[in-house]
Amino acid sequence: MEVPCVRAPVAEGEETRQELADADLVAPEFDIVVDDGTIYIPVTDTDAVPDDLTVAVHDVPERRTPTTPADVLGFEPTYERLGDVVIVDEDDPERARRIADAILESDVRAKTVVNRASKVKGETRVRDWDVLVGESTETVHREYGHEFALDITEVYFSPRLATERHRVVEQVETGENAFDMFAGVGPYAIPIADAGAEVVATDINEAAIDYLRENARRNGVEDRITAHADDVRDLAADYENWADRLVMNLPHSAQEFLDTAVRLAGDDCTIHYYDIQHEDDRFGPGEHAIRDAAEPDYDVTVETRHTVRSYAPHEYNVCLDVRLTRD
Ligand code: SAM
Repeated sequence: MEVPCVRAPVAEGEETRQELADADLVAPEFDIVVDDGTIYIPVTDTDAVPDDLTVAVHDVPERRTPTTPADVLGFEPTYERLGDVVIVDEDDPERARRIADAILESDVRAKTVVNRASKVKGETRVRDWDVLVGESTETVHREYGHEFALDITEVYFSPRLATERHRVVEQVETGENAFDMFAGVGPYAIPIADAGAEVVATDINEAAIDYLRENARRNGVEDRITAHADDVRDLAADYENWADRLVMNLPHSAQEFLDTAVRLAGDDCTIHYYDIQHEDDRFGPGEHAIRDAAEPDYDVTVETRHTVRSYAPHEYNVCLDVRLTRD
């Protein structure tokens, strides 16, 4: 389409575009084009263009707005992304299929589309999936500058916890000893190591630990992480009194591991204790359980009572940041 543009040598292109953008003169509905060493920047008002710039009419394409799944479907579907795997959460298989087809037809980047086929289950917290589009359920997910390779059919991983993990990582100090008791593929352990801690990470799921080791290498922190494919209870004797920080991300069952946590804790240790509780008393049961396990050997101070997310009607996923200080 022939539209008024500012014309400039390519070498001055970015500077010119910035000058026009600062004056709010770049026309958003057209693409900027480069022709034969000259850049053409479509503008909204030729009269307002500064005198030292050259205006010329040029042929530029209209900017195409990306097609969303909602454009295809006529309603806004719910989905989340894990690398190039797109996850939908639909009880009705027919509706799930329609959403998957719309995702493919849209401009959303997706190699595979899956639907949740069960709740997270068993010790490893892995769920079943219906694969609706594509084949591979392995992907690389990026979170706060780190890369995590994983296969959703083999390991637990929730992209919804990204902000929460970041909240914990921001508390880490260089040189501390951090123990991730239920580490999965390493979304706590790896950024904690990157923040300067010496990390021990374990998981009962061997596939998760294989990925954690790969992810430690991917993110250049393999020197600061020792990974074990073990039940954390079997490591308590080896790391007694070792940890300055403990991550206990096994909501529903963390309470059963508090005796192990107290054995791992050093003289001054912060525990990030995840729990799922009824809205009427989100933090009380966790705090009582921690006091029961740690007192009187330790002074127990609850530093943060944090609601991570709504988990089910009237139930919340919460985190208690608790400091244990040996008397
Ligand atoms: N922290 C990871 C994350 O944020 O993605 C994984 C959390 S997932 C809710 C809990 C993990 O604990 C699972 O990977 C499961 O295999 C592991 N797990 C369960 N029981 C365990 C045990 N006794 N010892 C070590 N790991 C265990």
